[in-house]
Order: sequence, then C-alpha cells, then structure tokens
Amino acid sequence: MKYIYTFEEGNKNMRRLLGGKGANLAQMTNLGFPVPSGFTISTEACNAFYKNHNQLNDDNLDQIKEALDQLSQKVGKRFDSPSAPLLVSVRSGAAISMPGMMDTILNIGLNDQTVAVLAKITANERFAYDSYRRLLAMFGNVVEGISEATFDMVIENLKQQNHYQSDLDLTTDDLKQIVSEFKKIYMNELHREFPQDPTEQLLAAINSVFESWNNHRAKIYRRENNIPSFLGTAVNVQMMVFGNAGKDSGTGVAFTRDPATGEKQLFGEYLLNAQGEDVVAGIRTPQPISTLKETMPHLYEQFVAIAAKLEFYYRDMQDLEFTIENGKLYMLQARDGKRTPTAAVKIAVDMVDEGLVSRQEALMRIKPESVQAILYPEFDEQELAKNDIVASGLPASPGAATGRVYFTAEAAKAAHDEKHQAVILVRQDTSPEDIEGMVVSEAIVTSRGGMTSHAAVVARGMGTPATVGVNHLQVDYQHKTASFSGHQLHEGDWLSVDGTQGNIYIGQIKTTDMAVNENLSTLLGWAKQESRLGVYANADTPADFSQALKFDADGIGLARTEHMFFKPERLLEMRRLIIAENAEARKLPLKRLLDMQQGDFYGLYKLSEGRSVTIRLLDPPLHEFLPHDEKEIHEVAAQLDIEPAYLAQRVDALKELNPMLGHRGDRLAVTFPDIYQMQVRAIIGAALQLLDENVIIEPHIMIPLTGSKAEMSWVRELVVKQIEQLFDERNARLQYTVGTMMEMPRACLTADKVAEVSDFFSFGTNDLTQLTFGFSRDDVGSFMPEYIKQGILPADPFQTVDVEGVGQLMKMAVEKGRFTKPRLPIGVCGEIGGDPKSIEFFEQLDVSYVSCSPFRVPVARLAAAQAHLRNKRAVSQSVSVNPVR
Ligand code: PEP
Ligand code: MG
Repeated sequence: MKYIYTFEEGNKNMRRLLGGKGANLAQMTNLGFPVPSGFTISTEACNAFYKNHNQLNDDNLDQIKEALDQLSQKVGKRFDSPSAPLLVSVRSGAAISMPGMMDTILNIGLNDQTVAVLAKITANERFAYDSYRRLLAMFGNVVEGISEATFDMVIENLKQQNHYQSDLDLTTDDLKQIVSEFKKIYMNELHREFPQDPTEQLLAAINSVFESWNNHRAKIYRRENNIPSFLGTAVNVQMMVFGNAGKDSGTGVAFTRDPATGEKQLFGEYLLNAQGEDVVAGIRTPQPISTLKETMPHLYEQFVAIAAKLEFYYRDMQDLEFTIENGKLYMLQARDGKRTPTAAVKIAVDMVDEGLVSRQEALMRIKPESVQAILYPEFDEQELAKNDIVASGLPASPGAATGRVYFTAEAAKAAHDEKHQAVILVRQDTSPEDIEGMVVSEAIVTSRGGMTSHAAVVARGMGTPATVGVNHLQVDYQHKTASFSGHQLHEGDWLSVDGTQGNIYIGQIKTTDMAVNENLSTLLGWAKQESRLGVYANADTPADFSQALKFDADGIGLARTEHMFFKPERLLEMRRLIIAENAEARKLPLKRLLDMQQGDFYGLYKLSEGRSVTIRLLDPPLHEFLPHDEKEIHEVAAQLDIEPAYLAQRVDALKELNPMLGHRGDRLAVTFPDIYQMQVRAIIGAALQLLDENVIIEPHIMIPLTGSKAEMSWVRELVVKQIEQLFDERNARLQYTVGTMMEMPRACLTADKVAEVSDFFSFGTNDLTQLTFGFSRDDVGSFMPEYIKQGILPADPFQTVDVEGVGQLMKMAVEKGRFTKPRLPIGVCGEIGGDPKSIEFFEQLDVSYVSCSPFRVPVARLAAAQAHLRNKRAVSQSVSVNPVR
C-alpha cells in the first residue's frame, strides 16, 4: 500500500488522504511557490498504525526510509552529514483542521555532532544551540512525556540569575549550558540519554504524532466538532528552514484579509530572528506585517503577490505561515482562515462583488447560528476571561447582558423606573403577570423551565437574553436572595447573563454593542431570493412586528393574542371577565377588551403593508390571568371592587391539576364562546376599518389546540357565523381564512379529515413535542441536560426537531392534509421554526413557511436558503445519477 506522497505528488483535493496541511503544502508546491521540500505520510498510514498496535508497520517503515533518501538527494542534505546535515520538522495534519490539538516537533536531526556542523556552516553558533535546546525540550515533552515546565524552569532560573529580560538575552554559552541541563533532565526522568540517531528521532516523532490523534484534548475536540475518529491524521515531514538563523531571517503569520473585520488588507505579524513558537507563545512582541515593507521590501512584495494568488486560487481568505531564512522566503502553510462572524459576512459579500464566488456559494459559507453573534451583544472577550461561570442552564434567548438582580417583576420595574437601573429578573419561573418586569429587564434567569417555557418564549420574542432551567439556582423570595452553588446574591447585586451559551456570572461584565450590518442585509437579501420557505415572525405587538420587518420578515405567522392582555389595564378587564358569573356581567369587560383588541389588530395590519398576518385566538388556561397568592388576591379584589373571599373562590374554581392539558385553546371556545366571538369581531373589525381607508386585508384566523375534525368544525362555525354577522352589520365583505394549529398528535393522525374544515395548518411544535414525548415543556429543565449528556436524546427536541418521532407525525400530517387539499398552506410556528437544523428538515417536508421570534428571522432566512440550495443540489445529483426519474 502506498503510504507516502511527496509534496509534488499531492494536491488540494487530497485532504482526506493527506490532511489539510499536507494537501495545501502539495498544492503550493505545485503552484510553484517556495515551499521547503518534504513528504506526507497519509491518514491511511495512521489507521494502519493503530491496527498494528500503535506501531509503524514494516511496509510503512521502508517507505519512510525511501522518502527520506529521496528528500536528501533533492535538497543535497543528509541526516548526520558532517558538511550538510538535514533537519526536518514533523507535524500533524488532519483532514478537518483541529488547531493546536495534536503534536509538532521541530529540528529533528540535531545531535551533539550536527549542532556543531550547523554552527559552523551558518557561522551562527547561538542559532545552532538555540535550535538544539528547542528540539530537546519539544522531543522531551511530546515524545517522552516530560512536562514542559521542567524545561522552562531551567531557562527561567538562568534568566533570573543573569537579570535577563527575554530569551534573546541568552548568550551562546547560556544556550550550551541549557542544552547540557536539558540532557540531564532526560537522565533524571527517563534514566536514558536523548537519542542521538536522527532516524530514531524521526521515527519516534512520527509515532507520537500518530498517537496524538487519540490524546485526550484531540478526542474532546473531535467530539465537540463532530469529527469522526476513523479519519486519522496525516504526518508531514518537511525540511527545516530557520527563521532564527540571524538578522535577515524571521517568521510570521498573516491573513489575506482582516479576520476580525473582514477588511481587504493583509493582516498579520512577524518576528525577525525567531522561530514559529516565539510568535505563538507571545515571548516577544511581533511587528505588524506592514513594517516588513520597510525592512525587507523585496520579500514583502513577493509575499503580497503569493498571498493574493493563493486567495484567488482557493477563493477564500487564507491564513498563511511563512519563514524567511537568510533573506529567502518560504511558505510553510496556507489554509482557509478562521474569522469572526462579522468578518465572515463581509468577506463573503466582498468576494461576490469581486467575482470570486457566486451568491449561492457566499450564502453557503456562513453558519446561520453565527448570524446571531452579529445581531446580539456579547460579553467583551477579555473581560469574560477574568470571570468564572457560577451556574449554567438552557440557552433560552441569545445575547449577553449585565445588571442588578431583582426577584419580583414589581421590584425590577421599580428599580428600572425609579432608580434607572439596568435590571435582571431572577425567578423560579415566570408567568404572564411578570410581563412588566420582563419588559424592563436586560436579561431573565429562571431556575425552572425549558426552551419553550413562558420565560423562554417571551424573552426570545422581546430579544432579551435569557437562561432558564438553572438547576443549581435557588430563589428565596421571602429573604430576597438567590443562591448558586455556594454563591449568594442579594437584591440589587450585579449579575451577568449569557443567554447564547446559557451561562451565569457574578458581577458586571462589559458587553459589545448590537451591530447594524449592511453586509448582513445584503446577504439576507440574497438568501430571500434563494429560499423556497417563507420566513414569518411570531409577533404580538406592533413593536415586535416592526423589529421583524427590519429583518425583512414575510409577515406574521403567529400573533399570540393572550400576550396582548398583559398590560395592567387589560389584565384588569380580563380578570373582570373571568370572574364574571354570567353572560350579562361579561358584557362590559368584553366590550372594553374588544375595543382594545381591535386597536391591536389595526396596528398590526397597518404595519403589514400587504404581508400576511395570522392571528391566533386565545390559547392559555384562564387561571393564568388570575392572582395566585393571598397578597395578590387582596390587591386584585380591591382593584375589581369585590370581596377577596369571592375572588379566592373563583381562583380556586379555575385551578386545574394539569393546566397544560386542561381547559385551554379551543376548549375555551366551546365553554366561553363569547371570548372567541369578541376576538373575531376585533380582527374583522380592524380589517374593515382599514377597508374604509382603502387598504385590503385578508385576515387569517388560527384556532389553537385542535384535536379533531369535529372540534375544528364546531369552532369554525362559531367563527364564521360571527364574521358573516359582522359583514351583514357593516354591509361590507372581505376574503378571510380560518385555519388550525397542528399541535395535538391526534390532529396529525387525522389530518386528512381536519383539513376538510381548515384553510391552513400551522404546526405548533412546542405542544406537539410536549404531547408526543409526554415531556412537560415547562419542566424539562430538570432532566433534559442529563438526557443529552447521557446520549438518551441527541438534542433538546424543543430546540431541534425530533425527526424520528415528532417529525414523522408532521410528515404524516403534511401528506394527509395535502391529500385532502393539495394546495393547503402549511407553516411551522413553534420555537423550532427558527432552528437551522430543523429548517433543513422542514424544507424536505415541503411545508410552506416557518415562523419564529423576530430576532431569529435572519438566522432562519439564511438557514432556509441553505436548505433549499442543498435540496436543489441533492435533487439535481439524483436526477443525473438516475436519468430514468
Ligand atoms: C406551539 O405549541 O408550538 C405554539 C406555537 O403555541 P404556544 O407556544 O403558544 O403554545
Ligand atoms: Mg401551542
């Protein structure tokens, strides 16, 4: 089997076999750039190494020796040569880059003889011994497992004794002394000498690099980044060139564009008379690459030209490593450069303008989740590094914020309004009553709840960072304290919350600003053109809708009308309505609510400018609007001018053992039809109001919680009757639709029948997931992290669709629904409607649109474009492979 490829034999398409580094070195060689000669031992050799009980097999050993001979002939240097000793580097390089995870050893080939030869031929003894001590330390650490600190200590002691500032102050004699001390370390630690035979050094180094594929940090990195372990690493053996050979030598790294901003300018740094690790280790302060123009103008020009060609060739921003040896430039590495999300978007858009990549390619290059990082504030990286995570929970709503903690909505609101403080609401959980405190909070933290709990849904809708289900958090409302695994917080203490990661920090941490980004708008514009799925927003207020429109949402896919009852004056009327005992007593609050709701809908329609707006009728159980404890009951009773005992009795009567499965959704319509009638009059009333202004609206009314055709049919009749009555009263008509949420498994199972009485479907995946798994969406925080950790679930199904179970129900519902009505519009409006992985599935499912919180719209839009582009590609490939289709 062929295990070894010289750089001349490979190219950039051989990543799987040669690793990224090997493939790129080969490609640069073939492009005619100055690359030090060498060869790559393939990833197949790595797998053979493991098969052979962590030993190189004989075939591989023979090929290494042969390749080494060839290399020696080519460069005119040999291991152990008394006149021209060959020195090589040994570096790992996997198919998918794993920066810093595996091992590298430089200067292989140096020993007590060759170090002297090197000193002689370079006329630089200091350089030779400097190189030798580096080999001793690196080999000792990587191959023999001696701690780096043991070697560092020798150097530090010497520097201290001589009052040196930096490694550069070390004299040749110092370095010779260091070499001899390092050799003693081998004897002390291993009871044997450092191997003087270069071939022995090389083979041991290759062994260690292969072994480093399975070191602890590499395994963790692979697990975190979904890199399969069977890929293996390649090993690159390359002639050493020396950046520390004197004043006209040096080493550096550069990016072809600024990796932080994406600006099109060479960005990087270099150090004269130094080796690569000096730059990485920050021992000396490197110079900006632009100064190379003055120090070595020739080389600078050559480097700029190579960088430009490489970028053009690879059609992406490149991360380059170079070395200058005695005035000659060598390229050591070229790879696609890591970049910030902001830079990624700018580079992608610029490269389209420059004609380097197509729009489709630019769209595929941006991770949808990374768009979030551009939109939301984050903690300042340097400040964050100084703080420890004190607790973690579910990352319910992205962004980072810092503020003073309060444990009740009232206290948070008072601190915000009266003391003008930045506040963070910390609670066990939240309910509609907390809304005023939530609105003014910079972030929200709860100890209970999952990704679709009240706190999570509302925070996401408002774009407020939130971490929920923090298991180690205990809130003591009575004493106004909270404790996090050993830390105690009092009201008014500073707390910092990272809702993107789900982490909590004590104290204040500076955040970055929310960026408005033109490049992102351009990219999202392209995404819209390339998508099949519509992207709508879950928006309940004109403010939410305006935000969604800024992100170019296609309309509203879900307006949860219950969220409109949160304002104090509305809550009061709602409460008056709920406690009323007969239809007569309900009339006045209903009339007041009708006026308010009509105003709400008018506001949303006015903003819509031709976009579709789907309004859902009341969904939650009524008791959610009522006070809970005695103190609140007394306050509310006073506001309503009724006896507290009477109110307490009503609260008690409405209490349910399982409210999520109880008297909510369309079940309310059957028992309290006048609430739905009022809402329908408000919706149609608002549309007619606009008709008077010559604006035509087609209202889409959505019924929650439908479980059967009979149920939907009953509610539909109620709704349609009310609409027709209003049309007759006003002597005007409009087109309208009445559709249903698909959130009950039974509705999915009987979707062909439900479709007979529905104009559209919209999957409520929050409830559908809850009911399919039997997981309470408000309580999953207590066990979901463990389920994921134990591998029982691959991901939280409230965040990413469970294709196998919930997805099957959805598939069945789509097929059955479209069997009845082939053009039935179908959306997804649960929280996973904004999740990129789920969107991939929804594209294949052929639903018509997704709807998500306004701040998720850009992420969803990009994911929708990528899903469509991928799907198109898959279809065209399958057509070309299978022309019969
Ligand atoms: C759902 O269940 O997915 C949904 C969108 O409705 P809600 O979250 O309001 O129950
Ligand atoms: Mg629901």
